[in-house]
Amino acid sequence: MAEVEAVKINAVVLSEYKTTFVAITVHMHKLFLRKKISPRVENGHPWVFMNEINVQDSPPLETLQPGETVEVYNAAKKFVGRGYCNPKSQITVRLLTRHATETIDAAFFYGRLQTAWRYRQQLGYTENCRLVFGEADGMPALIIDKFNDYFVLQTLAVGMDVWKPAIVDALHKIFSPKGIYERNDVPVRELEGMAQIKGFLSDPFDTNIIINENGLRFCVDIANGQKTGYFLDQQDNRRAIKHIVKNADVLEAFTYTGTFSIHAAHYGAKSVFGIDISENAIAQCRRNAELNGLQNKCRFEAMNAFDALKQWTKEDKRYDVVMIDPPAFTKSRENLQKAITGYKEINLRAMKLVKPGGFLVTASCTNLVPPPLFLDIIAMAAKDARRTLRQVTYQTQASDHPIVWGMENTEYLKFLIVEVR
Ligand code: SAH
Repeated sequence: MAEVEAVKINAVVLSEYKTTFVAITVHMHKLFLRKKISPRVENGHPWVFMNEINVQDSPPLETLQPGETVEVYNAAKKFVGRGYCNPKSQITVRLLTRHATETIDAAFFYGRLQTAWRYRQQLGYTENCRLVFGEADGMPALIIDKFNDYFVLQTLAVGMDVWKPAIVDALHKIFSPKGIYERNDVPVRELEGMAQIKGFLSDPFDTNIIINENGLRFCVDIANGQKTGYFLDQQDNRRAIKHIVKNADVLEAFTYTGTFSIHAAHYGAKSVFGIDISENAIAQCRRNAELNGLQNKCRFEAMNAFDALKQWTKEDKRYDVVMIDPPAFTKSRENLQKAITGYKEINLRAMKLVKPGGFLVTASCTNLVPPPLFLDIIAMAAKDARRTLRQVTYQTQASDHPIVWGMENTEYLKFLIVEVR
C-alpha cells in the first residue's frame, strides 16, 4: 500500500506520467534471493546473477519478459530492490532502485538524468562529459556522452533499451539538445537478444561536430568514430603530459584522432609523430592538427604499432617521450593472458624507444586488467628492457566516469607516466 501512496504523490507532481506509474506497479514479479549467497547484492551491488535466485520461491524465469521490471527480495522476504530482468542473461536482474516507494517509469529516468547532470556540474563540467556512466549513475547498461549540444547514447541491455523513448524525452526536456544519436552498433547487444543499430534519435544533423577540450578543438565523428566517437575519459590525463613534453621529440602510438599528440604539440613539444592502424583515424588526426594550427609540428601516419615500434628499435631511433594507449586486447576474462601478453609486449617496445631520462606515458582501458596487475605488467616490461622507472603520475579515468567502490567494473582506466632511466 505504501507504494501506491507514493505513486499518487508523484503523480500529482508529474501528472503526465501518471498512467505509466500505476500500470507498472500493479503487475510485478517478485524474485527471491537464495539464503547462502554472498551479501554483495544486499550490500549495494546492482547485479543479481541467475545462480543467486531461489528458483523454488520465484516464478519460473522463462515466464519473465526480457526487460520487464521485477522486485527482488532476500531470503527473509525483505525488499531488496526493483530493477529490470533478462531471464536469458547470466545477470538476470540489474537493480535500478533500493527504495520500495520508487517506481520505475519515465519520471524515474528524468530524475536520474537530472541527478547525473547535477553531479557533473558540481564537479566542474560544463561542455562535454560522460553524462551517464551506467551502474555508477544507478542506470545499469546506459551510456550517454554529452558533446556540448549533442548527445550520444548506448542502451546495452534490453531492460534499458525499453526505456529509450523515455530517456530521449528526458534529454529533450533537460537540455533542449541540437541532436541525439544512438551508437548501439555494439556486439554486446546481441548477447541480450538485440540487434546492432545506430542512427538519429532526433531530427537529423551533421554528425561531425567540434568540441573544446583543455583549450583545444577537436572534431568528433559521432556516427562513425570509435565507441561514441571520442574518449572523454582521458581528458585529465591529456592535461597531465603538459610539463614532460616541453621541447621534446614525442612519439605516440594508438593515437586514434590525435588528441594526446595535439596536446603535446600545444604544450610545447619540438616534434610530434602519431601513428594508428586506422586510416580514418589518421585522417581525423590531420584535420584536428589543422583545426588547432599545429599541423607544422605534428605528423601522422597509418601503421601497425607493434611492427613499427619493433622496427624503430632496431634502427636505433629514440624519443624523449613515448605515449601509448593500446586497445583492450581482450573482452573476456578467459583471454586475460592474451591481454597481459599484449600489454607487456607493447610497453616493452615503447620503453626501448625512450632516451635515458625520457618519459613513457602508458594507459590501459580494460577493467579486466585491474590496477595492480597493470603496474606489474609495466614492471615486467621494464625488467626485460633493463630499464628502471621513476613514477611521475598515476591516475585513472576522469571523474565524469565515477568509480563506485565495491563495483569493480567501474574502475577501468589506468594511466601512468614514468621516467625511464
Ligand atoms: N588515446 C586515444 C584512444 C586510443 S584507442 C584517445 O585518447 O582518443 C586505441 C586505438 O588503437 C584505436 O584508434 C585503434 O585504431 C588503434 N589500434 C588498434 N590496434 C592497433 C595497432 N596494432 N597498431 C596501431 N594502432 C592500433
